[in-house]
Amino acid sequence: MVNERKAELPIWFANEDIHDADEPYLPSLLEESFFRWRGEVSGLVSLRAGQFGIYTRDILCHGSSDPADEPDFAEREPLARLVVPLAFREGTTHKDSADGCHAIAIPLLRRSDRAVFAVLLYVFRDDHAAPYTGELESAALHLRSCFYHVFEQLYVRDLIQQQHRKDREASHRDALFLAAKQLYDQIDVSSVLAEMLASLESLYPNSEVHLYLSQDYVDGDPRIKPLAFKNTAHDIVAQAFLESKPAMEHERDGTMRLAVPMTGKQAVYGVLCLTLGRGKWDESDMPAFLLLADTAGSAFENAKLYEQSNLLINELRLINEMTKRLNQSLRLKEIFQFATSELLTIFDADYCCVLQLDKTSNEFVVKSSNIPAMASEHFSPEYGFCGMIYRTKEPLIISDYWNTRVVTSKLMDNTGSRSLIAAPIFVDGEVVGVILVTHKIANFFSYDNYKLLQVMSTHIGLAVANASLHAEVRRMVITDTLTGLHARHYLNEQIQSRQRKDPFGSLILVDIDYFKRINDTYGHQVGDRILIQVSNIIASSIRQGDIAARWGGEELAVYLPGIRTEQALRIAERIRNQVAEETNPTVTVSCGVSEWTFDNEKISVESLFYRADMALYEAKNRGRNCIIVGE
Ligand code: GH3
Ligand code: MG
Ligand code: MG
Repeated sequence: MVNERKAELPIWFANEDIHDADEPYLPSLLEESFFRWRGEVSGLVSLRAGQFGIYTRDILCHGSSDPADEPDFAEREPLARLVVPLAFREGTTHKDSADGCHAIAIPLLRRSDRAVFAVLLYVFRDDHAAPYTGELESAALHLRSCFYHVFEQLYVRDLIQQQHRKDREASHRDALFLAAKQLYDQIDVSSVLAEMLASLESLYPNSEVHLYLSQDYVDGDPRIKPLAFKNTAHDIVAQAFLESKPAMEHERDGTMRLAVPMTGKQAVYGVLCLTLGRGKWDESDMPAFLLLADTAGSAFENAKLYEQSNLLINELRLINEMTKRLNQSLRLKEIFQFATSELLTIFDADYCCVLQLDKTSNEFVVKSSNIPAMASEHFSPEYGFCGMIYRTKEPLIISDYWNTRVVTSKLMDNTGSRSLIAAPIFVDGEVVGVILVTHKIANFFSYDNYKLLQVMSTHIGLAVANASLHAEVRRMVITDTLTGLHARHYLNEQIQSRQRKDPFGSLILVDIDYFKRINDTYGHQVGDRILIQVSNIIASSIRQGDIAARWGGEELAVYLPGIRTEQALRIAERIRNQVAEETNPTVTVSCGVSEWTFDNEKISVESLFYRADMALYEAKNRGRNCIIVGE
């Protein structure tokens, strides 16, 4: 009823100087108090005849004192236009119209400064009794009381609401502070994320919280998902990530979705997405929500960096330890064995296999493995994963051999492995070996594992290079360059070491007869060739454990461990014969043989040689090309 009237009554105070924009709530307050007042005064019989109107500066309400009885006053409007502005300016005003209508306008004064804030108008006809002004004035005071009552109610309601809001904000702030503190207390990524989601869910109990991460992360929490960039134009999550600012959308059913980027100092790590039912979102929560997302971003970044640095430290420690231990050994075999056991532990792997490329046979040979069946296996350099690595010179990661099966691998098939990381061992830029590390479970190795193996394989390569160099230097040191036989000091060392283990052994000294003459006749180069021929004959006449050496200029020596003189004599005889038959130009040799047994354990290498030398001297004396066994 009231609204209808408001609609049909024009705002007729067009004059700007009486328009009051400062109190926009006044009309509705007045309206409410006016109707409340009318209800309270409708019992006053004397005021029933006329009609009341209430005027603010820009709206008016009216009605008779009795809601049931509202005769139409056609003259009311012109009278009101006349009398109300006067009452605003000058106080209570009476006016009569020509056709017997009367209006009394009584200003309503503010309590504080007594300024007029509204006017109460009473209109009645000639045929009704005129009311007492005093009665009207007390009715106006009553109206004012009603107004203040309504106003105070509203004010108090407002205060309570404000208080509620403040309380809510304070509790949100507390919760936020607590959440931030707890976020910063976490040092691992999954606790940061769990903490953040828990905080959000407690701050917005009826919401759905999702986190879309831009990085690889496996946790199993269904609320955490990878960030996808499918329909970016319509996806507020992708939008928030790409523009790194919040995005919001409203569904038809009033559901609100808010996406806020989770930003650290270095990057945007993901997007927090909050879905709330109709009316659950308060715009004033936005700064707090952004702050939480920012805090989470920083905490996530910190945790991530911490995790990464821990991982790096751990890796460096492993690499350091492994390098140290690798460098302790100069034996290839030990290096390969150590690498195998170390890699199994580091990667928590099931199987490991280290292969070396044998240059002479051009095959990969298993040098160390925890699979007994693979020991000393050899493969063509085209076969399996070794072949792939040999060809590409690149490391490999296979997440599921059963599914991909890029090549056939005996190692994978025999062990039932599904995951593999493998790396080449380089020496001087050449692939000299391959490391294969496997696990029965698919997707077992991480990318970090793969990178770490790569780093470790370079260190293993260095150790292999060192050991090979060392072996080469040692070989050079103990080998005579001209004849390819061992050097004299090596022979000495070996005799000493064998004397500690063996019960007996023999020594043959070989001297070329009239060698000076050969040199003089054919020249030194031919002399050298003869020396090499004789050395080769000696090398081919002895067993593996025997040691042949160049003792001096053209004197050669053979030590035969565990051999008595009778047998040594036969060997010397074989050598003497062969030299006489096979050398070109033909030379002959004389030999002196000596032996030691455990009975005369005090015998030194020198006296062993002395005795052989004496026998040799004897052989020369006897006309050369013969063998004498020493006493
Ligand atoms: P014999 O032993 O039968 O008494 O006579 P010989 O001529 O062999 O005498 P001797 O063993 O004393 O001489 C050793 C000669 O071998 C001296 C040297 O010219 C020669 N000779 C030593 N070392 C080398 C070498 O590395 N190359 C060459 N071509 N000749 C060498
Ligand atoms: Mg000699
Ligand atoms: Mg000689």
